[in-house]
Amino acid sequence: KLVSKKWKAKPTSVDLGDNIFIKEGEMAVITGPCSIESEEQIRSVVAHCVENDIKMMRGGVFKPRSSPYAFRGLGLDGLKLWYEIAHEAGIKIVTEVMQTSQIEEMYPYVDVYQVGARNSQNFNLLDELGKVDKAVMIKRGISGTIEELLQSAEYVFSGGNEKLILCERGIRTYERASRNTLDLNAIPILKAKSHLPVIVDPSHGIGIRAYVPQMALAGVMSGADGIIYESHEVPEKAYSDGQQTLDFAQSARLAGWIRESFAMR
Ligand code: PEP
Ligand code: MN
Repeated sequence: KLVSKKWKAKPTSVDLGDNIFIKEGEMAVITGPCSIESEEQIRSVVAHCVENDIKMMRGGVFKPRSSPYAFRGLGLDGLKLWYEIAHEAGIKIVTEVMQTSQIEEMYPYVDVYQVGARNSQNFNLLDELGKVDKAVMIKRGISGTIEELLQSAEYVFSGGNEKLILCERGIRTYERASRNTLDLNAIPILKAKSHLPVIVDPSHGIGIRAYVPQMALAGVMSGADGIIYESHEVPEKAYSDGQQTLDFAQSARLAGWIRESFAMR
């Protein structure tokens, strides 16, 4: 496989421009709300990122929701607004693309296309993202194996897009005490098998706010090249995933701990 270490030994460095990289040897910190909600909310998160030297912001404008009645996101208009505010502050945008028709319209406003867990094996979407010259982060499928995640990455890489990032975000197991089961085992295994950078998402991984920081640190110590977690000024008021979202004080503390732990690794 092209994404395997056997094919390419040198770790892949994903260059987002402006001296911002997702790569082995650096710790990428990505935070932001589950959903982009309003101009006021975007401004508050961007200010939080700037204050804490966080260079990449996450957020969904097209939201894959389990219920069709839940908030589905602000769509392209929300993305344009977010782009204006974030880019003025020098912050890169990580956001989910749900279908092929969105790739082109999102293109000017995106730095990393996120493929969500539910779309991890949407092979048409992966094929199309293989033709794009912007970074793609593929989340592991809800019940996806490590091998299946690598196969999904192979679709994009073999299509010609080598700016690829893998993300462990927890899998569905028999355990119901946590939202998902964050598979920390996947991190060293993915790092050993592939030259691609690996990011860990403790927010969706455990789904419980109070335990997100320790799982983030466990991810760092497991060898992850970056962390993506949800934050919001008032998590209780978040339109989605508030129960696993950190407030800004918690997020600031965690960002500091992540960097300290990475330096000690
Ligand atoms: C998200 O990042 O908010 C999200 C929907 O993630 P996942 O696809 O991992 O469930
Ligand atoms: Mn979410």
